[in-house]
Amino acid sequence: MGSSRGHICWKWGSPLRRLTGFSRLLSTAALGPQICVVGSGPAGFYTAQHLLKHHRLARVDIYEKLPVPFGLVRFGVAPDHPEVKVSTYRVENVINTFTQTAHSDRCAYYGNVTIGKDVTVKELQRAYHAVVLSYGAEDNRILGIPGENLLGVYSARAFVGWYNGLPENRDLKPDLSSETAMVLGQGNVALDVARVLLSPLDVLRKTDITEGSLAAIACSKVKRVWLVGRRGPLQVAFTIKELREMINLPGTRPLLDPADFTGLGDVIKDVPRPRKRLTELMVKSALEKPGEKEASRWASATKEWGLKFRRSPLEVLPAADGKQARGIRMAVTRLEGSGESARAVPTGEVEELECGLILSSIGYRSLPLDSLIPFDPKLGIIPNSLGRVQGAPGLYCSGWVKRGPTGVIITTMNDSFDTAQSVLEDLQTGVLNLSNSKEGFESVRSILHSRGVHPVTFSDWEKIDAAEVARGKLAGKPREKIVDPQEMLQLVSH
Ligand code: FAD
Repeated sequence: MGSSRGHICWKWGSPLRRLTGFSRLLSTAALGPQICVVGSGPAGFYTAQHLLKHHRLARVDIYEKLPVPFGLVRFGVAPDHPEVKVSTYRVENVINTFTQTAHSDRCAYYGNVTIGKDVTVKELQRAYHAVVLSYGAEDNRILGIPGENLLGVYSARAFVGWYNGLPENRDLKPDLSSETAMVLGQGNVALDVARVLLSPLDVLRKTDITEGSLAAIACSKVKRVWLVGRRGPLQVAFTIKELREMINLPGTRPLLDPADFTGLGDVIKDVPRPRKRLTELMVKSALEKPGEKEASRWASATKEWGLKFRRSPLEVLPAADGKQARGIRMAVTRLEGSGESARAVPTGEVEELECGLILSSIGYRSLPLDSLIPFDPKLGIIPNSLGRVQGAPGLYCSGWVKRGPTGVIITTMNDSFDTAQSVLEDLQTGVLNLSNSKEGFESVRSILHSRGVHPVTFSDWEKIDAAEVARGKLAGKPREKIVDPQEMLQLVSH
């Protein structure tokens, strides 16, 4: 795709830039390592970026099961967090960086190709010198309690997918007719979900939240959201920026029980600084008298949210019809031990709370792609050392499938650079044998063709992107995401 744009390796300062003639470029490229990456989220793109930057001849093909790229940057990051989509800690534009990578002459994107279904990993290994698995964590952990499947109970993963336009969740139709919602979990995803449920419509309307979810939220009856944790305030998993945002959310007031925070000031003297500052913010909000402006905002608020500690869900309670959730029974817990490793132990006391909407936000989970690839079901990761898949030479992994579903984009970037570094070392030491010439996409192309699969290229994605932006413009928002993959494919059918 880059060649059609008339520039060769402009980004990476490669000596290839000095070559003239397309045929020379092709023959040189053929000598280099053929690498592919499975998944086009941050892990896939950052792995590709590092490989292209540090190996002048490497070619990297990125395979993605959806027609559209960027993984959770598109389908996870909350719509009212565009600053994350446009900036990293170096104020770079994440999506622009990925786009630059995709525009490299030595990189290609093939969307609409599900590895494990349309092409096997073994087939990729035959076509490429190295295969990097960066396919993220597409499932969620389950609560494992009775009533979990009642109507009104959703995973936060599905809910996030719904408001962000993830095709598989576009028909979720969450029931928002209850006044109280319970989010089980106290991490940043739990806060995202609570914020989206309680945000003023005027704020959401200007984001790229999907039309359908905006309409549903406009009719929502939810006015109170509890975020429930099994442990205490010193063990919450969310971070200070997200908490501050919640505390300042227009039209809402926090419900923080002073008893949960009394005396914490002394305990946190010796804890690491981020935890200390986070706890200080909770203590301040719960125990200190608010300033005049804040007090008047809280007094006029029509919605509220709160943190419930030391509660462990036991059962989702059915309504009289036996189908709908009407509440949740929780064990009251106490903590054994202290700090991050403190354990929640049931006290024997039980509490029931009425709520018709329950969102379980207890973590994402990776799945094995193929029975031939090592997978640790307990940890939900591909066992690896520095990104090298154990017992599978030539196979690597990066991102959430490598280290588990935690960490922000920057964490994923660093971890993907590490994996790419392992590939580069293996190329240098000869562990990856380049004397076996590999055809790369050429051999995958014929497999896809024989199976009737039509890959979506990066310039195809740019057409979808332009259509989304144009539709968004009409509605005064940054984009209107297309949620139906068939519609995406129609836009790019040749
Ligand atoms: P993913 O982003 O999930 O990418 C994996 C890709 O692989 C996907 O595109 C998927 O479609 C594709 N794939 C899956 N299976 C296959 C297959 N069989 N074949 C081909 N392709 C496949 N971080 C921040 O820094 N800021 C935030 O505000 C933020 N908000 C978040 C909100 C939520 C709800 C979540 C869940 C995470 C958030 N994160 C945020 C964290 C960030 O999204 C992750 O660190 C990062 O996306 C992990 O990258 P990944 O590439 O490993 O996985």
